[in-house]
Amino acid sequence: MKNLNLTLFIFILFITSLIGNVVFNFNVSLIYQLTLTIIFLIFLSLYFIRFFFYLNHLIFLIPITFVVPFLENNFGWFLYFVILSFSIVLQILDYDRKKVLFYFVLFVIFLWIRTLFYNQDKIVFSIFLTILTSISLILTGKEKSKKKSLEERFENIRSKNKIIEVSPFMLEKEKILNDYSERNRMIVNIIDEAIISLLSTLRTLLNCKSVIFFLYNKDNDYLFIEAGISSEEINLKKTLSNRGNFLYSVVRDHKSIKDNLFIGDISKLSLYRNDTVVRSIISLPVIKSGECVGVLYVDDGNEEKFTDKDMETTKLFSDQIGMILNFAEYAQQAKTEATVISILNDITHKLSKTFDFEEIIRTVTESLKMVINYTNYFLVSFQKDNLKVLMTDSTIKNFSEKISEKSFLFFALKDKVYYKTNLKDREIPMYLFYKGDGIGLFDAAISIPIFFDDEKKIFLIMILKEKILLDPAKIFLLNFISDISKTASEKSFLYQRTKDLAIKDGLTGIYNHRFFQDELSKILLNAQRSEKKVSLGLLDIDHFKKFNDTYGHQIGDQVLKHIAGILNESVRKTDLVARYGGEEFVIVLTNIKDDSFENVFENIRRKIEEKKIKVKEEELKVTVSIGFSLFPDDTKEKNLLINYADSALYKAKEFGRNRVVRYQK
Ligand code: GH3
Ligand code: MG
Ligand code: MG
Repeated sequence: MKNLNLTLFIFILFITSLIGNVVFNFNVSLIYQLTLTIIFLIFLSLYFIRFFFYLNHLIFLIPITFVVPFLENNFGWFLYFVILSFSIVLQILDYDRKKVLFYFVLFVIFLWIRTLFYNQDKIVFSIFLTILTSISLILTGKEKSKKKSLEERFENIRSKNKIIEVSPFMLEKEKILNDYSERNRMIVNIIDEAIISLLSTLRTLLNCKSVIFFLYNKDNDYLFIEAGISSEEINLKKTLSNRGNFLYSVVRDHKSIKDNLFIGDISKLSLYRNDTVVRSIISLPVIKSGECVGVLYVDDGNEEKFTDKDMETTKLFSDQIGMILNFAEYAQQAKTEATVISILNDITHKLSKTFDFEEIIRTVTESLKMVINYTNYFLVSFQKDNLKVLMTDSTIKNFSEKISEKSFLFFALKDKVYYKTNLKDREIPMYLFYKGDGIGLFDAAISIPIFFDDEKKIFLIMILKEKILLDPAKIFLLNFISDISKTASEKSFLYQRTKDLAIKDGLTGIYNHRFFQDELSKILLNAQRSEKKVSLGLLDIDHFKKFNDTYGHQIGDQVLKHIAGILNESVRKTDLVARYGGEEFVIVLTNIKDDSFENVFENIRRKIEEKKIKVKEEELKVTVSIGFSLFPDDTKEKNLLINYADSALYKAKEFGRNRVVRYQK
């Protein structure tokens, strides 16, 4: 039954209504029946161009059911009867078996009620019928929820990609590529609808079995059934290998085929679900910007079906489809470009306002998230081939310092944007840093250079679970982001260096005297408030003048750096180490609880004494003297505290150097 064509259906409908008219005593005149049949014909063709796809036609039944009992000559009854028959036909056309059954039951109930209630209280009866129909309407309201779920999905994909919206056409394509098994015949977008409506018109014009549009996937060299109208049950959205079927020559050579005595193997098209006879075909390439992007295919079961004029007509339609696709691409491009500009504007504005490197990276990663839905990012630096992960949104944070030669990063160390996709398809797996880095496998990765100088290289690496498709607009955006990140991070590092210069000592890299003075005031104020003790130690290198005279100032400078290093590693983060003057250092220990702080000074002294300084072939060593005072035990005065430490240092020198002395009154 489902293979019958539209005309046959209308005919059946007409015959049914004729029989119904006689069997159930409707007494409706032939003119009325004819008029109704024509109305249904219009309904059906509308249905075919999918105008009513989302509309539930039962909605028309509600007013009709109410007036049914009041109409003369049984006309209302008859109308109701035909609409229900029409519903059944529609569901048969849509191959929805459950609904066929549903309407059939409704149909039987209708006939049963008619015999029961005929000539009864008409108001009660019409209300009853209206309620019944309304319930049916709610029960069949699934079309709408189906539409809603599709819209939700569309919204989801859109919000995932936040700003760059996928055009409906691309979305549909993406959906098909991701989910072959989906047999969803619902049309989600205008482009598809336009194509469907073209196909439907062409089919009406040619009066043939099927009109199908195959889309060509150039990258993977296959065709898939994008849209089609047929009197037979067809496999929409199915992919077919290109080489096995005769459409290949259409795609490859842009060849137009008209064959009115077709004897090829139609099953190779994977188009029909059942065995079907095809004797005449037309296949034309659909050209977009000079490139074949699909095939418009028309067929029929009769021999000698298509004329040259049909061929010309089909050609006209294939040109139209090409134009629609062109338009879709332009619309997509325009949208992407507009988005790219808005992102660029936003990121440039934000980066111009900050000197903070972490904030720069945060801005960049947030902006990138709008363009590329990455799974994780890693900000990595390479210094003398040693890897360091500076920032990441991944939970894995401990990485070894070396990368392997088969890693993505090994290839990505370039001064420009670099990406790889389809990595999961590789025979030899590609890891991000090295095998066992904990990140596992990913399908795509992008590297964006953030900072480059002679010593250090910083990259932002994004990994994605899914494949990526980077169009020129996105690549442009990535390169642009890379460029402005470079400028912004250079600016940030320069700013940091300038700031350091004001508070840090150029030779040793530790804080300078001025910073120490400011900081000590704050430390003492805090200590007073929290009633904690602070110790201030002054350190002076023993016989340094002689050392300089023997080895030269340059080596003397090296000793100063060496000592600064030891000091830094010997105190806690809350403590303060600074260069007090020439070869004198100051150590401020905060949050002191008991006398164990004295060990810190002693440890420093011992470490300096023991640790040798390698200079060329020679191994040199120096000793130091340390004097310290205690706040608030010795004094609460900042200057006195320093003076007391100084006098303790003097004592240490006096007692023979290389020792630690506490201030005593
Ligand atoms: P003492 O054991 O009594 O401390 O003897 P000393 O020779 O170290 O005496 P003093 O602390 O007065 O020595 C200061 C010397 O430190 C003078 C200078 O040669 C050296 N010095 C000061 N600043 C620097 C510097 O920046 N670099 C180098 N190489 N030497 C410095
Ligand atoms: Mg000195
Ligand atoms: Mg000295």
